[in-house]
Amino acid sequence: MPDCIFCNILAHKTPAKIVYEDDQVAAIEDIRPQAPVHLLVIPRQHVVTLNDFKAQDEPLLGRLFTVAARLAKERGLESKGYRTVINNGAWAGQSVAHLHVHVMGGRVFHWPPG
Ligand code: AMP
Ligand code: ZN
Repeated sequence: MPDCIFCNILAHKTPAKIVYEDDQVAAIEDIRPQAPVHLLVIPRQHVVTLNDFKAQDEPLLGRLFTVAARLAKERGLESKGYRTVINNGAWAGQSVAHLHVHVMGGRVFHWPPG
């Protein structure tokens, strides 16, 4: 997707702090962190929301979350806990139309999130 910021970041056309890359997903530091650790795990495939996932995409969903967990562990978030979030669509507050898993930690989070 030529006009998609996350497609361009994953293609190394737009600068970002890339902290992880494999054949299916990459992870970056969020540009406006809402917690001491705030990463985004992003599929290389341009998918807008979870609504676009098909049964055959289940391995990709699995990869997104195993990478999220690995990065959280590497940053020492495993024992105290951390939050993973996917905002899907306008009412959820999605601002970038390329699906991403927020991985946030290093502080206490409240529930419900508002
Ligand atoms: P969401 O509102 O769930 O779509 O989340 C989008 C996230 O992407 C926000 O937390 C933004 O701060 C973050 N973001 C937007 N543009 C960039 C960028 N160029 N590099 C890193 N993070 C970004
Ligand atoms: Zn994209």
